Amino acid sequence: MTGSMDNIAHLASHPRFQFRRHDVIEPAIVKGPVAEIYNLASPASPLKYQEDPIHTFKTSVWGALNLLELAREKGARILQSSTSEVYGDPTVSPQPESYHGNVNTTGPRACYDEGKRAAETLFYEMSARHGVEVRIARIFNTYGPRLQAGDGRVVSTFIDQALDGAPLTINGDGSQTRSFCYVDDLVEGLMRLMANDEVGSAPVNLGNPDERSISDAAALVLAATGSKSELTWRAMPQDDPLRRCPDISRAQELLDWRPTVSFEEGLQRMIAHMVSERARQRPAAGGGAS
Ligand code: UDP
Repeated sequence: MTGSMDNIAHLASHPRFQFRRHDVIEPAIVKGPVAEIYNLASPASPLKYQEDPIHTFKTSVWGALNLLELAREKGARILQSSTSEVYGDPTVSPQPESYHGNVNTTGPRACYDEGKRAAETLFYEMSARHGVEVRIARIFNTYGPRLQAGDGRVVSTFIDQALDGAPLTINGDGSQTRSFCYVDDLVEGLMRLMANDEVGSAPVNLGNPDERSISDAAALVLAATGSKSELTWRAMPQDDPLRRCPDISRAQELLDWRPTVSFEEGLQRMIAHMVSERARQRPAAGGGAS
């Protein structure tokens, strides 16, 4: 829904890569054996998942059921990309997997949060009742190259605004926090979780415990881009969590995993990518004048 074919263009000629366009709310029919399924389907930006909330909810819940049925049929191991949003606006910080969350069932974020919570329940029960081999990753804010500039999430938005010289839009007073995990670290964590034979259906937090305020994130983006953009403040969206920071003890213990890319380093890599994307999409005008 929110991805881009450009993001997989470099894989298209790989002999072991195949792309099929399919909506996971429809049953998944696959010929031949399947060893592993990573369920990463869903828009993840609040801006995008709130555009069609009922479809977002179906993507999480019906999508989970359809892929779990496929895993059951094929005897495949299946990993669910769950989310830190299952903790809602947390009253404890950092959040361990044992924390049951503080989630509004009827607010604007509910379609995503409650959909992901229901999906975890389906994964848990399909494991307990039918012996499906499931893994549940609770992913905290992830960023990196190939995140869409207009996606609405904070890191890509701030970089885009900084590169345009436009004001950086801070929601609320900017004191709310997030913990940003670089995409390569996250992917390594997902693969280790998939490969782990012990963890079963117990959810595992995957994120970077380096907690930053949104104001700090804005200042870092300005410093890293060298932009002279100003800051502008908007109303805080309803149910926007005030704090978010993963307790990653379980991932460290079970998967021997922890993030290795600092926010400063990851920002540099993402900025470099966004700058080269801009050059690719908007080739320099002119060519005659001197
Ligand atoms: N945010 C912001 N300005 C923006 C986009 C987001 O201040 O232009 C804030 C947002 O209100 C939230 C945080 O940044 O407090 C992270 O938002 P994002 O949409 O990236 O993800 P979330 O963690 O809320 O799902």
